[in-house]
Amino acid sequence: MHNLEASSAWWYFINRIFRYLRTEPAVRPANLKGRKLPDPIHDETFMRQALAQAEQAYRHDEVPVGAVVVLDGRVIGRGHNLTRRLQDVSAHAEFLAMREAAGWLGHWYFNKCTLYVTVEPCMMCAGVLVLGRMTRLVYGAAEPKFGSCGSIFNLVEEQRFNHRVSVTRGVLAEECAALMKKFFSGLRER
Ligand SMILES: [Zn+2]
Repeated sequence: MHNLEASSAWWYFINRIFRYLRTEPAVRPANLKGRKLPDPIHDETFMRQALAQAEQAYRHDEVPVGAVVVLDGRVIGRGHNLTRRLQDVSAHAEFLAMREAAGWLGHWYFNKCTLYVTVEPCMMCAGVLVLGRMTRLVYGAAEPKFGSCGSIFNLVEEQRFNHRVSVTRGVLAEECAALMKKFFSGLRER
């Protein structure tokens, strides 16, 4: 007979291993020792991973925005925009990366985590960053139409909220913006 409890414990264990293997130590925690974050070199390293996500979105004909969540030098969540494929207005890169990271963490708050995203977050994602108590946000290109982390509003540094996110702007901004430009000029040509 199958022991149900034992088999679910087994699956839990397998899942933890799988999750562990899926996270890539792009910068090993040991290399971070003695360095004070924020660190521009690491910011670029992780922004490159967010850019790789944005390129995936581009290949799938989605607005090319990508994001990763980093804790202790390790990527624990990644996502790219999937609004078209999922027909879900909330399927933004930041949102999906945070969802994956929350699954890995086992909770919804992002203490000591940094979110890297290629384009300035919109009002929804800025709200989620504040609600999720994200410690730090690093973004690439500013977004003049929906940007809510400095361009139109600055929700993440709003003093009246009970949590503020520390923000670094403009990391690999030109590359992040160029991908967006390539996507939208492609749309116009169609
Ligand atoms: Zn958003």
